[in-house]
Amino acid sequence: MNKRGIYIHIPFCVQKCNYCAFLSFNAESSPRKEYTDALVQEIRCRGEALGHPEVDTVYVGGGTPSVLDLSQMRDIMTAVSESFSVKPDAEMTIEANPGTLGRKDGVTLAKLQAYKYLGFNRLSMGVQSMENDRLHFLGRIHTAENVARDMELIRRKGFENVNLDLIFSVPGESTKDALSDLKKVLDLKPEHVSCYSLQIEEGTPFGRMAEEGELTEVPDEEDRRTYHEICRALKEAGYEHYEISNFARLPEGSAGCGFGDAGAKAASPLRSQHNSLYWDMDDYIGLGLGASGFAGGVRYKNTDDIEEYFAAINEGRFPLAEEHVNTPFDNISEAVFTGLRRREGISYEEAAAAYRAAGGEDAEGSAEQLFWQVFGDAEAEAREYAGRGLLIIDSEGLRLTEQGIDISNSIMSLFV
Ligand code: SF4
Repeated sequence: MNKRGIYIHIPFCVQKCNYCAFLSFNAESSPRKEYTDALVQEIRCRGEALGHPEVDTVYVGGGTPSVLDLSQMRDIMTAVSESFSVKPDAEMTIEANPGTLGRKDGVTLAKLQAYKYLGFNRLSMGVQSMENDRLHFLGRIHTAENVARDMELIRRKGFENVNLDLIFSVPGESTKDALSDLKKVLDLKPEHVSCYSLQIEEGTPFGRMAEEGELTEVPDEEDRRTYHEICRALKEAGYEHYEISNFARLPEGSAGCGFGDAGAKAASPLRSQHNSLYWDMDDYIGLGLGASGFAGGVRYKNTDDIEEYFAAINEGRFPLAEEHVNTPFDNISEAVFTGLRRREGISYEEAAAAYRAAGGEDAEGSAEQLFWQVFGDAEAEAREYAGRGLLIIDSEGLRLTEQGIDISNSIMSLFV
């Protein structure tokens, strides 16, 4: 374990988006104050139980954290700073959706100032599209004009690390439309861009429309073509494609780079430090309703049920739904699964370290030998993927090529 972060879940939104399967409820009709008080208690108990450890990142996500009152956000962040030793240079992110930062410029600027005061130095905005018809179809509450105006105020307040999320493969959207959306996003000069293909999930309005034949998903072939065009455009614009869905701007004058590119290229300093904890098998402490954590070799998940959450906190218990102590195989398997999501892939050394961290017996020989001893059954198929140019296997470890991303689930599942 090299680094440690905190994730805090705020499960409230102004309204539910048509595709959303995340854990979030209508903010107006939800007990936001009661939730904040319970969350503060959970933060304090976790900090105490872990001995007030140092943390490198804090990420407040949701849902839509920016729907909370500033006094509620202040209570949460005070509890964080009093319960954990947040490093002075920690990356501190808040998700702030367009349309929730205040209608008037003065209100928005005051809110942003308060976020700065609370220590946030990175903002993540769910832009999703820059076309108003598409935003409306997705059920978003904002317009493209809201995004442009929020970004202007965010920059005016001096935030220099902003992520913008974009969704592609929305039914009815062509590759050309997606690229036009991306261009408008890039005009805002974000430091980081996350691009996701729309998933139609059961139980969502889109899921129901698909069942009734009112919505047709974008065919796989078209979805993949759009994805690769997006990767190309972002590389051309000087971004590092460092994780399957994530792109970070490289220093001025550097050429963009991505999966499978030859030669070792330096990592962008603007990679998401917090999300990298997940892919690097570092510790993260999940707090709040439905939050997951991985700390000291134990994976856990909090309950999704808000009444159970309140009951557990009132009784002085952690609101856990699941807890699992990782075995050496769990650890190495997860390290490979998450590591392959990164441009650099998984090295044999990292995989062996994950195995040993869970008490795996040190086999005689090199980390590479240990790797193939553990995954002996997967070797022939992995080498076949390598022969097809989808995976690179060398003396350092394994990494996907950009084409390999299209079947990444099949490749990763070899190591589960
Ligand atoms: S803003 Fe995000 S979390 Fe909230 S409903 Fe929309 S997709 Fe879901």
